[in-house]
Amino acid sequence: MEHNDLKIYKGNIFYFDENVTLKDFTAGKEASGTIYHYIENGLLAVENGKILAVGDYNTCIKDYPDAQVIDYSGKMITPGFIDTHLHVTQSGTVAAYGEKLLEWLNNYVFPCESAYLDDDAARTDINFFLRELIKNGTTTAVGYGPLTYSATDILFEELSRRNIRFITGNTMQDRNSPEYLTLPAKENYENALKIIHKWHNKGRQSYAITPRFAFSSTEELLELSKSLKTEYPDLYIQTHIDENLAEIEGIKTLFPWSKNYLDVYDHFGLVTDKTVFGHCIYLTDEEYMVMRDRQAIISSCPISNNFLGSGLFNIKKMMQYTDRITLGSDLGGGNTLSMLAVLDEFYKVGMLQDFKVYSMTRWFLCTLGAAKSLGLSDVIGSFKPGKEADFIIIDPKATEFVSYRTDRVNDIYELLFVLMTLGDSNLIEDTYIYGKSMKNFV
Ligand SMILES: [Zn+2]
Repeated sequence: MEHNDLKIYKGNIFYFDENVTLKDFTAGKEASGTIYHYIENGLLAVENGKILAVGDYNTCIKDYPDAQVIDYSGKMITPGFIDTHLHVTQSGTVAAYGEKLLEWLNNYVFPCESAYLDDDAARTDINFFLRELIKNGTTTAVGYGPLTYSATDILFEELSRRNIRFITGNTMQDRNSPEYLTLPAKENYENALKIIHKWHNKGRQSYAITPRFAFSSTEELLELSKSLKTEYPDLYIQTHIDENLAEIEGIKTLFPWSKNYLDVYDHFGLVTDKTVFGHCIYLTDEEYMVMRDRQAIISSCPISNNFLGSGLFNIKKMMQYTDRITLGSDLGGGNTLSMLAVLDEFYKVGMLQDFKVYSMTRWFLCTLGAAKSLGLSDVIGSFKPGKEADFIIIDPKATEFVSYRTDRVNDIYELLFVLMTLGDSNLIEDTYIYGKSMKNFV
């Protein structure tokens, strides 16, 4: 058999078993070897951007006598992270002092996003953002794009140039926003249509209908969002919900007919199994039930929630309702793109509510679990042969402190826990997207 583009990666390989669901962890199978594969001195064979084989190095290398071997001995080779909630446009306002959600948007975020009205500035910021995202080991993301057609087009160009799997769209808003970030509902809709025609399902790109949140949307805009979903049923939808108490009060005033916040989106047909809802902190029991019944995708963003003083996501309760739970950095409410740091914060949010979230559970939520929730587990999230080769190299000796501590771990559970608790982008030695090292990508 001819292997044109074959590469062999040698290292400690970790990934979840294809058949695992979140329920398997909650049922106490944390210690069972069947939920994950950890192959010390393992081999990952990659060809033409896809996983060709995975297994024990000494056994499998015999099948590839002439292949180029990239040696990551002592390092972990594992599927890249999936971040399901972030804002491409907010790198410039990370670490903004002293405000909660609505004031923070008005005082910091909206002025920062006005930079995207200039195409050159937009491209520079997008490239900065994507370099940082990839440096942190994230290989798939669901994110909010810019307002305008041209800046969103530039975003898709840059995503496409990197061949990174990404779900995004022009962020639509037509009220409660400064004039420079307000477009008439119809214009938001027409921009969306143009982007969909040009980019949706092109390569690894998917379009998400993106009304920022109901608070900045008129009923006309939400109605037009519904039209997009009706015309293109395979589109994703992303928006925010139940993040902050003042926001929820505002929704009651803007949509007096609604039973609750989620009811606004549901009224316009936007609560679907392809809708990613950011935050979900203050859901009522009825909203939990509707989320469950519609199989909506939950994105918890613990760093952002703590930074903006928004509140605590109820992990235990959400797990009782649905297994479609994922994690987001929510840059720039979140101040990092490191999913290791997000996993650490998620643990602390659990501890503040007397609920321990296992190491494996959390790692699953931002790899195979997220792939399953997004309906992408046939292509990403594990090392099953045939899947797209999105993987990262984690160096447990990258810093003196992490090295000191990982020298003293007893097993893979403790190793993951230490990596999540102490880790950040320093630990990510390289990120491979569709089989290609991104280390020197400019
Ligand atoms: Zn957000």
